[in-house]
Amino acid sequence: MSAAPPAALAPYLTPAHEHLWSEAEEFTARHVASRVERMEAAPHKVERKLSRLMAGRRWFGVTIPAEYGGLGAGHVAKTVLIHRLAAVSATAAAILQAGLIPIGALQHWGTAEQKTRWLPLAADGTVLLSIAVTEPRAGGHIGGIETVAERDGDTWLITGSKAHIGNSHLAGMHIVVARTAPPDVTASKALTAFLVEHGCKGLTVDPHRAGLGLRGFTAGRLHLDRVRIPAANMLGNVGEGLYVAQSSSILYGRPNLTALSLGIHEALVDTTATYLSSRARYGGHLSDLPVVQDRLGGMQARLQTAQTIAYQAVDLLDRKVACDNHLIGAKHTGHQLAARSAQDAMELHGARALDTDYPLQRLFRDIQHTYPPAGTGEFQRIHLAKTALGTGFVEWSERLATESSWTPIEPTPG
Ligand SMILES: Cc1cc2nc3c(=O)[nH]c(=O)nc-3n(C[C@H](O)[C@H](O)[C@H](O)COP(=O)(O)OP(=O)(O)OC[C@H]3O[C@@H](n4cnc5c(N)ncnc54)[C@H](O)[C@@H]3O)c2cc1C
Repeated sequence: MSAAPPAALAPYLTPAHEHLWSEAEEFTARHVASRVERMEAAPHKVERKLSRLMAGRRWFGVTIPAEYGGLGAGHVAKTVLIHRLAAVSATAAAILQAGLIPIGALQHWGTAEQKTRWLPLAADGTVLLSIAVTEPRAGGHIGGIETVAERDGDTWLITGSKAHIGNSHLAGMHIVVARTAPPDVTASKALTAFLVEHGCKGLTVDPHRAGLGLRGFTAGRLHLDRVRIPAANMLGNVGEGLYVAQSSSILYGRPNLTALSLGIHEALVDTTATYLSSRARYGGHLSDLPVVQDRLGGMQARLQTAQTIAYQAVDLLDRKVACDNHLIGAKHTGHQLAARSAQDAMELHGARALDTDYPLQRLFRDIQHTYPPAGTGEFQRIHLAKTALGTGFVEWSERLATESSWTPIEPTPG
């Protein structure tokens, strides 16, 4: 693992970022590395301590402005934290990243009262947030959302189910996107986001079920049975739920998943290089063989590309440059490159790859978890084709730059 940032990242990192990088290295060495085996050995257990330790560092407040008690450190800083955590434990990184997406939504769509009340609690980790968009039947098709919110005087009643919700078992508040218009109304007008506190009557969470990887991380099901929330808990306006979900997925979710796959990718290359250079063969080591070097070199080339696109995209975001296609492309390509390296790593290890006491199979399982969230590859490519065709879409990165003057958005075609 690299203790210091690679020189190639110098264009994107300030001394403050480098300081955060060192802090993350110290944190993973002290608190994370020793937990990895324990989390792997107990797939049905929910990891709770790590989120508290990260909250103690105020990392859930990394993008929250200082006026609300956050670090106000921006998107590159967020990438540094997720990347460095993921190089040691994708679970730790997943817990942090899943908490940061809804915080982004609250920051950009919350009223002054909502931000004053909730952001300080989010910044110090008193309250962890989740964002609940995906549904058991509709999956990633946001227009198919069946969860319904009905107005009842000064309250809303929400009924429905949400699936694969990151930090489902840790969050004290969920941002729930629900339908507030009849099924024939287009998604760009039919959905609304709500702040739903975890203790609300009628809200239940299914028991934690272990996934393929990310052991200790929870991405479970929420059920809402006529959950009553005050009207003041609406996030954004009626009909803006699609935009709340879409903007936070593009500006926070995609770069977060990019950083997560980058950290796993780095661990794949490190693990493989270490193994090949220590496995004896023909009086030397496997790493001496040109065919093996060719494959390892390919892995390193992919890692370097993944590193550059990850940091370049969030640097553009911090500079308030319109860069949605770069955030999307980095998530898409970062995962693809890492998944390809994961396959090479498995093959280069021979049968050793399959040993459950060896970290490689964990990395191979964990990398599968960076494909579906914040848009599958198919959806990233649909979006990127619009860039290629010049057919356009809302540039959320551009709107972020003029955030204070956000106005209701007209639906875009498609
Ligand atoms: C680790 C993890 C964390 C997650 N965290 C959250 C979270 O915090 N909040 C949340 O709301 N969700 C979360 N999700 C859910 C994630 O957003 C969904 O898995 C994703 O949107 C895809 O939905 P699905 O898995 O139901 O697949 P489906 O929507 O059923 O899609 C299955 C396949 O069909 C393809 N497909 C579907 N429709 C089309 C189309 N129109 N054109 C082309 N291809 C299509 C998809 O790309 C995919 O390959 C998380 C998932 C994971 C794995």
